[in-house]
Amino acid sequence: MSSYDPTTALAAVRQQIQHAAGLARRKAEDVTLIAVSKTQDATAIQPLLEVGQRHFGENRVQEAAGKWPALAKAYPGVVLHLIGQLQSNKAEEAVALFDSIHSVDRPSLVTALGKAMDRLDKRPDCFVQVNIGDEPQKGGCPIAELPALITLAHEVGLPVAGLMAIPPADLEPAPYFALLAAMARDHGLAGLSMGMSSDVETAVTIGATHVRVGTALFGARA
Ligand SMILES: *Cc1c(COP(=O)(O)O)cnc(C)c1O
Repeated sequence: MSSYDPTTALAAVRQQIQHAAGLARRKAEDVTLIAVSKTQDATAIQPLLEVGQRHFGENRVQEAAGKWPALAKAYPGVVLHLIGQLQSNKAEEAVALFDSIHSVDRPSLVTALGKAMDRLDKRPDCFVQVNIGDEPQKGGCPIAELPALITLAHEVGLPVAGLMAIPPADLEPAPYFALLAAMARDHGLAGLSMGMSSDVETAVTIGATHVRVGTALFGARA
């Protein structure tokens, strides 16, 4: 629709977070809303920046490198989150550009990120992505390999903030969110990056600290 207004959409998503946090006796301020701006150009992103949104998520290093340096300069306080699969050979570029990396999912990437952080002396918060539904085609660390991956991440100096997951499509997400929350608790991790446009409220009631919302803020992607 041509009347689509991202700032109205932002208020609606914030309202959802507020409502779900209230149900769970949590504070809405403890939930970071990441506006997923992948495929959106500067013109689409600016209205959200204008009304104070500062956390944004991108899934490709190259795309983010093309549009964010100029936007971040124009709007101080931008916090950039990498939410898409990361190739080890782009680890250094990712560390330089992003404040937070939500897709840490295998030993080779952990090692590459550790080296990049040492070299750049910059340590973005890291979320270990878990293949929570054990889906062969999906990214994320297999559940059985999670303890070893977290140990390795600590060994090479990654600041491990928490866990991230994308539940299986078309299934009720709550059990998967609960499973991820239990795993984070077992590992003493406070961060839970879970919940997207269709399940923000469910994720927040189950303890999400970071929700990643694209469609509900920008409309359907082309
Ligand atoms: C695109 C994407 C999102 C946002 O999905 P919407 O359904 O558009 O809210 C969240 N997380 C990841 C990892 C994504 O790639």
